Amino acid sequence: MSLLETHALTASYGDFQALFGVDIRLEEGEAVAIIGANGAGKSTLMRSISGVLINETDQVQFDGQPIGHLTADEIMARGVAMVPEGRRLFPSLSVEENLLIGTYGRKVAGHWSLETVYDLFPILQERRNHPGTALSGGQQQMVAIGRALMSNPRVLLCDEISLGLAPVVIKDIYAAVPRIQDAGASLIVVEQDIGQAMKVSDRVYCMMEGRVTLEGAADTLSREAIHDAYFGGA
Ligand code: ATP
Repeated sequence: MSLLETHALTASYGDFQALFGVDIRLEEGEAVAIIGANGAGKSTLMRSISGVLINETDQVQFDGQPIGHLTADEIMARGVAMVPEGRRLFPSLSVEENLLIGTYGRKVAGHWSLETVYDLFPILQERRNHPGTALSGGQQQMVAIGRALMSNPRVLLCDEISLGLAPVVIKDIYAAVPRIQDAGASLIVVEQDIGQAMKVSDRVYCMMEGRVTLEGAADTLSREAIHDAYFGGA
């Protein structure tokens, strides 16, 4: 049994169906990347796992239990934390207050605390009394990741954490992924940049038009296969 699994997962926005039978799995300790073009359904998949979209038919299992019917708060309390697309910090709160908010839904002792988050992203300690609005995009993204880690999740879902950031900042942020794995969490990372996804993950799923079009270990997939799965092959 995998740590997290989806089975024939479907999702719709009103009459518009966005996912058509998606099967993915995440093993304990793994980092899995979900790649695909705009509109492929990656964010919808993250929302369906994290409970932003509720799934009455229990197509999502975490730690052997169905979680599809649970709310986002209940899923977070069980140990699945989301770093949402767009960071969503509280702009008037300081860096430290934003981080502490991460502990409200789930008080579980573990590796992650203010001290270890500051060790992961030292710039946040320097800026700890600054409001969220005074930070660069990369620093805001670090706060969003740190805030999710503060709940000591077993699974971290990251939705496009590199979006709109400069390459040097993206490098810093992705350098955190192996450290998060070493500290005991498993990750799903949504990423539009194929090269970045390959570097950071053990396994990759490619999505197109609401379906998984390719799955495999990051070091075994050919560029051609990925290109076809991403853009649609002949
Ligand atoms: P992006 O990189 O643009 O975020 P994505 O792969 O994450 O793309 P989704 O955001 O999951 O894709 O979108 C999948 C499909 O669902 C798209 O066709 C999109 O237009 C549609 N969609 C997403 N959110 C909504 C919504 N709130 N209401 C209606 N349709 C939506």
